[in-house]
Amino acid sequence: MTVYGTRPEAIKVAPVIKALEASDVLDSVTVVTGQHREMLDQVNEIFDITPDYDLDIFQHGSTLSTIVARVLERLDPVLEAEQPAAVVVQGDTSTSTAAALAAFHRQIPVVHVEAGLRSGNILSPFPEEANRKITSQIARLHLAPTSSNRANLERETVPPHDIVVTGNTVIDALLMTVAKQKPFSDDALEELAESGEDVLLVTTHRRENWGGAMEGVGRALSRLARALPHVRIVLPAHRNPIVREAVLPHLAGLSNVTVTEPLPYGEFTRLLSISTVVLTDSGGVQEEAPGLAKPVLVMRDNTERPEAVGAGTVKLIGTDEERIVNETLELFTDQTAYDTMSRAMNPYGDGRAAERSVAAIAQLTGTGTRHADWATGDVA
Ligand code: UDP
Repeated sequence: MTVYGTRPEAIKVAPVIKALEASDVLDSVTVVTGQHREMLDQVNEIFDITPDYDLDIFQHGSTLSTIVARVLERLDPVLEAEQPAAVVVQGDTSTSTAAALAAFHRQIPVVHVEAGLRSGNILSPFPEEANRKITSQIARLHLAPTSSNRANLERETVPPHDIVVTGNTVIDALLMTVAKQKPFSDDALEELAESGEDVLLVTTHRRENWGGAMEGVGRALSRLARALPHVRIVLPAHRNPIVREAVLPHLAGLSNVTVTEPLPYGEFTRLLSISTVVLTDSGGVQEEAPGLAKPVLVMRDNTERPEAVGAGTVKLIGTDEERIVNETLELFTDQTAYDTMSRAMNPYGDGRAAERSVAAIAQLTGTGTRHADWATGDVA
């Protein structure tokens, strides 16, 4: 049984669900919590997944505690009815940790996809760093994207045999999607794709950036729009009203800024593929963009995804307004700086993470044999 509730989880479990559906030895049951609503449904649609259960927990103004409480309460009867051999959760959201706990309470083995990421700061990203550490404590099988994620888990005394390095399923999802070259539903984006104009793609939503830091992001974007009139800034705005209220007022009336609704995943990956530079605080986008040779400036002070930083395609720049402006300007005006950062690489996976995940789950449930660990840097 796979349980998920937000857009990033849906993208990253979709390849696993597809591989479970194709398995001869495992049956797949899918449960969505609805922590996100439209952004989640969009992803299910693209991957042609119809959830078996929808816990429908979404409520405007939910707190982290109400989300966790509702998942615990509503998932328990589903676990009782289905008696799954294992429960698969992904990543570090409130949905995933609450679902892991609900399964643990019934002594159902928990499989953690994207295990072992650590920023080292319990308050950043918040609440994700704590969520993934809690899930690691109760998971039975840890599917780690990279060998450094495995090392993090081993440092926390997870038995090495309970860990399999799979690569990150986000690369499976990206490869399944980007090749399709989805047409944009927004004409402005279709025109942009045809124009060949330079594009600065921006996404922002991190909870620890809410408030002053996010206002600063809005001001930085407004300054960049004026300083780079030949560049099109595209911001698919997160649904969260707190994010919108902080950023959007700064962008009103700027003719080279396009604000869109959250884009369906297929369109987003296409936009990524035509972008020149990516400015983001997203986890998933940090993993996807290096595969498409896009320099990424990350508006955070730390990252649980150091691999691409080490390789030089991702740079941590924090949320200081001045620094965001200067670092972005540099990439648009200094060709050497740009070339240094724009090298195609996939430190996060080779597109076969779902296959390795399902083999490991089959072994856990006594119906198959796991594959060897993926060695970071292996190419499919
Ligand atoms: N994404 C999308 N449409 C958008 C913006 C992002 O499909 O308009 C995808 C993106 O490709 C990535 C994921 O959503 O796979 C990242 O989600 P988000 O930034 O919300 O969460 P995080 O990865 O930071 O947890």
